Amino acid sequence: MADRYRSFTGTAPGRFLTRRLGLPQPAALERRALSGGLLHLTAGPSGLDLAPVLARTGLGPDDAGRPAAVVLDATGVRDVDTLAEVHAALHPVVRSVATSGRVVVLGAPLDPTDHHQAAVQQALEGFTRSLGKEIGRGRTVNLVRVTDADVLAAESTLRFLLSPASAYVSGQVIEVGAADVPVTAPDDQDLPLAGRTALVTGAARGIGAAVAETLAGRGARVVVLDVPGAEEEARGLAECLGGSALALDITAAGAGERIAAALPGGLDVLVHNAGITRDRRLVNMPADRWSSVLDVNLASVLRTTDALLAAGAVNRGGRIVATASIAGLAGNAGQTNYSASKAGIVGLVRSLAPRARAEHGVTVNAVAPGFIETKMTAAVPLLIREAGRRMNSLAQGGLPVDVAETTAWLAHPASGAVNGQVVRVCGQSLLGA
Ligand code: NAD
Repeated sequence: MADRYRSFTGTAPGRFLTRRLGLPQPAALERRALSGGLLHLTAGPSGLDLAPVLARTGLGPDDAGRPAAVVLDATGVRDVDTLAEVHAALHPVVRSVATSGRVVVLGAPLDPTDHHQAAVQQALEGFTRSLGKEIGRGRTVNLVRVTDADVLAAESTLRFLLSPASAYVSGQVIEVGAADVPVTAPDDQDLPLAGRTALVTGAARGIGAAVAETLAGRGARVVVLDVPGAEEEARGLAECLGGSALALDITAAGAGERIAAALPGGLDVLVHNAGITRDRRLVNMPADRWSSVLDVNLASVLRTTDALLAAGAVNRGGRIVATASIAGLAGNAGQTNYSASKAGIVGLVRSLAPRARAEHGVTVNAVAPGFIETKMTAAVPLLIREAGRRMNSLAQGGLPVDVAETTAWLAHPASGAVNGQVVRVCGQSLLGA
C-alpha cells in the first residue's frame, strides 16, 4: 500500500505545510547504494585493527567531508573521561553525514570486574539510541558490541550495517560473540549462499516471499513452504526462483519430520516466518483465537526446530532465523495472544542459541519486524496504520525486503559469531526497548 503521506512530504507544498505544522518528515530511504565514503574514528585506546575489514566494505575513505558512513571505535572507552572522546569525535561530523548515511559505534562487552568500564560501555547504548532518534534524514545509528578481539568475527555485521541493506535497522545493539565456530568467508561475496539449501515457512507472500527471493538471489536453493491453500502461489514463486515448493501446514503433526524427509541433503538455512494474527482484547478472546496464534507462531516453531535438530537435518554451519515482532517486545492492546507468541520466540532464541551452536554448530537468531508494508498491515484500520508508520525514527513503514536483507545477513556463512540476537527491523520504533 502506497505511503501517500511520505509522497506528499516530498512535494514543495507538502514539505512547507508539514514543516509548519511540525509533522514528521520521512526521507526516501536509499536501498541500492550509499553515496560517499567512510570515516573511521576512534575514542579511547583501541586494540582493534579495523582497517582491513573496513576496506572490504566497498566504501572508500571520505575525502569530500560528507561521509556515507561513520564508524566510531569506542571499544577502548573505560571511564567517563574517555567517554568524552565519543562526543569529541562525533560532534563535529554528525551534521555532515550524508542522507541515508550510517553511523556505527563499536563497543566492548561490559566488564563485570570494572564498574567504571561497565558504566561507560552501557552509556554507549543510551548514546546510540538517542542519536538514532535525533539524526534524521533517513540516517541510522547502531551499536555493535565486539566480544572477541578478532574483529573478523564482526565483518559480516559491519558490512551489513554499513550497506543499503540495513536501511530500516536503527537504534539496535548487536553483540558479536567469540568466533568459536569457524567464521567462514564465502568464496563468492555476491553469492555467499551458493550450494546451500534454505527453507522459508509462510513464503508464498509478504515478508516470507521477499526472504525467499533475497536468499535465492544470494545463491541459495530455496524451498518455499506454505499452507496447501497457498500452493499455487508457492509453486509459482519457487519456479521463478529455481527452487521448490512444499505445501504443508506447519502446525500439522509430524511437520518437522516431513520437512526432513523432503530434504535428504539437509538444510543450511531455516527461516521460521509463517505467522498469523487473530486480534481481540483478552476479555473478548475465545480460546480458539488464543490457541491458533500460539500454535502457528510459537508451538510449531518449537516442534519443527526440535524435530529438525534431533534428526540432524540442519547441517553444521547452519542458520536458524525465527520471526518475532516488536509487539512481542512492547506488547500491544488486542494482541495478548500474538505478543505472547512473539515474546516466546525471543525466549526460544536466547535459550537455544548457545546449545544449538555447541551441539550442532548452528546459530539461532530472530528478526523482530516493526511496521512492515504487507497484506497483514494493509488490513489494519487507517488511523492505527498511520500511527504505526510514523512512530519510529525514520517516520515510515519498512518494506518486506528490509526484513529479508536482515535475514540474509544472519544467514550469511560469515555470520557464525552472531548468535542469540534479536534484531529489530523497525526503523527504531518508539514501542518497546
Ligand atoms: P502474511 O500474512 O502476509 O504472510 C504470512 C504467510 O504465512 C502466508 O503466506 C500464510 O499462508 C503463511 N502461513 C500462515 N499459517 C501457516 C501455517 N500454519 N503453515 C504454513 N504457512 C502458514 O504475513 P507477513 O506480514 O508477511 O508476516 C510474516 C511474519 O512476520 C509473520 O510471522 C508475522 O507475524 C511477522 N511480522 C510481520 C509484521 C508486519 O508488519 N507485516 C510485523 C511484525 C512481525
